[in-house]
Amino acid sequence: MVEVKETDGKRFAVDPQEGQLEIKYGLPADVLFCKSCVISNQRPSSSVEFKHTKDSRKSTIHFDENGICDACNYSKRKFTEVDWEERDAKLRELCDRFRSRNDSYDCLVPGSGGKDSVYAALRLKRDYGMHPLTVTWAPHLYTDVGWYNMQAWLHKGGFDNYLFTPDGEAHRKLTRLAFENLLHPFQPFIFGQKNYAPKMAAKMGVPLVFYGENEAEYGNTVSENESAQRKLEYFAQDSQNAEDLYFGGVPFSELPDKGVDLRSIDPYMPADPDSLRAAEVEVHYLGYYLQWTPQENYYYSAENIGFKANEHRTEGTYSKYNSIDDKTDPYHYWTTLVKFGIGRATYDAAQEIRNQHIDREEGVALVRRYDQEFPRRYFPEFLEYLDLSEEQFFAIADEFRSPHLWTKSNGEWVLRHQVS
Ligand SMILES: [Zn+2]
Repeated sequence: MVEVKETDGKRFAVDPQEGQLEIKYGLPADVLFCKSCVISNQRPSSSVEFKHTKDSRKSTIHFDENGICDACNYSKRKFTEVDWEERDAKLRELCDRFRSRNDSYDCLVPGSGGKDSVYAALRLKRDYGMHPLTVTWAPHLYTDVGWYNMQAWLHKGGFDNYLFTPDGEAHRKLTRLAFENLLHPFQPFIFGQKNYAPKMAAKMGVPLVFYGENEAEYGNTVSENESAQRKLEYFAQDSQNAEDLYFGGVPFSELPDKGVDLRSIDPYMPADPDSLRAAEVEVHYLGYYLQWTPQENYYYSAENIGFKANEHRTEGTYSKYNSIDDKTDPYHYWTTLVKFGIGRATYDAAQEIRNQHIDREEGVALVRRYDQEFPRRYFPEFLEYLDLSEEQFFAIADEFRSPHLWTKSNGEWVLRHQVS
C-alpha cells in the first residue's frame, strides 16, 4: 500500500525514491490492474457530471477481494447465470405491452448507425415485430465510413430517423471549454446525446426507449445491474435549474463571457423527470434481454445492412469497427490515457477478454503495443475544430497528467505503471 499524505486539500502518494507525487481527481493511490482483464482501478465510473470542474473527484471502478473488476464479474454472469430464454420471454412481454396496432411508432432507438444501434433496431423490427423510430445526436465531425453506415442503417434497415445537429458554433465553443478546463472534449456531446432520446420520447409520444448495453458491462455503477430499466432520475442529474450547472467546467451564468450564447444551451440540459414521468417514458437496456456482444453485433450489421468496418486500424487501438463515425473520437480516448493512464486499446481489450474473444495475455500485448499511440490521422482537423495550435493542445493536456501516473524520461512522458 502506497502511503498517502494530504496537504492544502491535495493528495500525494509518498514514493520512496521521488518523494511526494500528487494524485489528481481523487484517484486511487495504488495503481492496480484487474487480474482477469486489463482495466486499471483508475477508471472513473461515470463520465457525465453536470457539476464537473477541473479538480472534481472521481468515483472509480470497484475491484473485489480477488483483484477482479466489477465489469468482469458482471460479464461472467452473462455466460453462466443468466437464463437467456427467460430474458427473451420478458422482452416479448414488454414488446407486447407497447406494440403498435395502427402502424405508429412503438419504441424509440437512439443511435448513430454504429453496429450496436443497427443490431438493436433491426432485431426489434424483425424478431419482435416492433416499429422503431430511430433518433441520432450528430457526431462533431462525421467520418465518411460513419456517414455511409448511418445511411445504410436507414436505407437498408428501413427506418425513419430524426438527426439532431446542435448549433455548430456553440458546440465548438463548449467542446473547446471542456477541453481546456476538463480535458474532456466529449462532455458536451455526452450531455446532449444522453438526454436527447428520453426528451424525444416524451415529445413524440413514444414512451418505450431502448438503449443497447448496460454501462455496468464497462464498470460503471453496478447498483442498477439487476434491472432492465434505467431510473428516470439518471437523466435529471444534479438539477433542472440551469443556474446550478456547469458546462465545460464553466458555471452557466458565466458562459456568455466565454462567447457561448445561452439560447443554444437547451439541447444540453438534463431532461425534466416530471415531464418524462408524465409521458410515462420507460428506458430499457436491450443488453439486459439479449446477450450483447459487440463483435457479434458487428457481424450481424455487416450481414444485414452491409455495415462497413474501417479500411484502416483505429489509432490507439487494434480494432476497426468500434466507434468509427466521428473524427474527434480518438481524442476522447487519448484524453482518458492522459488523465487516467487508460487508452483506447485497454477499453477494447478489456471488453474482448470479458466476451471471451481473446485471452488476458493477448490483451496485455495489444495494450502495450497500441494504447499510447497518438492519433495523428485527424489531428489537423481536430485542432482546427478547437481553434488550437499543436503547442497549445499539448500544453493543456500536460496540465492534466497526474504525477502519480506519469513521469518524464528523456523528454518523453512515460507511465509509471503498465499492465503486465
Ligand atoms: Zn476486469
